[in-house]
Amino acid sequence: MLTRVKMFFIILREIIILSVMYGFYVLYLTGMNDQNDRPIEEGAISKDTVIELLKSEGDDLERLYARADGVRAEHMGDEVYVRGIIEFSNLCANDCLYCGIRASNLLVNRYTMGIDEIMGTVRSFERTGQTTAVLQSGETPGLDDEEIGRLIRAIKYETSLAVTLSVGNRSREVYRFWKECGMDRYLIRFETSDRQLFARLHPDCSFDERIGCLHILKELGVQAGSGFMIGLPGERLETLADNILLCRELDLDMIGIGPYIPHPDTPLGNEPNAYADNEEIFYKAVSALRIVNPDAHIPATTAFDAVFPGIGRNLVLTRGANIFMPNNTPIEHRKDYLLYPGKPCIDENADQCVACVMMRIESIGRTMGTGPGHSLKKYNKRIQ
Ligand code: SF4
Repeated sequence: MLTRVKMFFIILREIIILSVMYGFYVLYLTGMNDQNDRPIEEGAISKDTVIELLKSEGDDLERLYARADGVRAEHMGDEVYVRGIIEFSNLCANDCLYCGIRASNLLVNRYTMGIDEIMGTVRSFERTGQTTAVLQSGETPGLDDEEIGRLIRAIKYETSLAVTLSVGNRSREVYRFWKECGMDRYLIRFETSDRQLFARLHPDCSFDERIGCLHILKELGVQAGSGFMIGLPGERLETLADNILLCRELDLDMIGIGPYIPHPDTPLGNEPNAYADNEEIFYKAVSALRIVNPDAHIPATTAFDAVFPGIGRNLVLTRGANIFMPNNTPIEHRKDYLLYPGKPCIDENADQCVACVMMRIESIGRTMGTGPGHSLKKYNKRIQ
């Protein structure tokens, strides 16, 4: 009897030892393979680290999305700031090869809204919970730099809205003038960190000029936003990782990214997205972007809804983004501001768009942001 009891305890001991050893082995393997469980360092992040995030599949992919959402919640909170866009002019002197409103596209019906018409739209923002007016146009818009300055002053005088401008490359003097008029933020995307690809796509502007604009804006104390397209023809995964890392290096306040969508009336019209057979990468890019840039405002861009109708922007908001930018361009102009085909919300008016946005924010259990939603990381330090 005693021998049988002894045997039982020996076997039990062996089972416990083997179980513990197996547990350590699994932990070891998980630790070796799961980039998502590793903290991102404070300083430089290697390209290999970002590429590993972008290659996540299966359980790792679920962990990537959950982690990005957690980083968003920790650094940016649960509020989604709603920033209304007005595409006030589709005039542009440039010929970016991918852009539907490029100067050479003679099929576009050109328009420019007057200051009174823009102000008429802006005045509705506060009643619909939008706290920023984003004024966007081609690079040589119908309004000159003085008129844009007057427009900024009028918005700041009549409303409590923050003003974001996105009208392309300008000199330091012009940016300074607009800042003095009250401009809070400026968006200018670098589109790709690959210099050769940038040069091919942008015949009117160099990569250094574009990055130089961002540096000037930051020196002037303007909150600076940039970003890139995901999957430009010729892009490789390494380029995508470099794009994400360049955003971190530039220490941006806002980062907007979205899938490249070929426009048939452009020279790139027949060149598909580099990840046309792997569209999940678009979401992975947003999550990696959030993890690498924890305290930047990241919008759920409209291009996601063009690729994934009805759900794209919702999913992006649950995978790292914290900003929604409904289109407030008057309905009669929307069909003429098609940077890419399939752009959603062409037939809804501004009130319908905002109502839809509120519903979408509620449907994912988040709340609408109140106040201007300025940059959290540097506002007090840099913007005086
Ligand atoms: S991307 Fe901008 S600068 Fe280039 S053609 Fe289009 S509107 Fe003009």
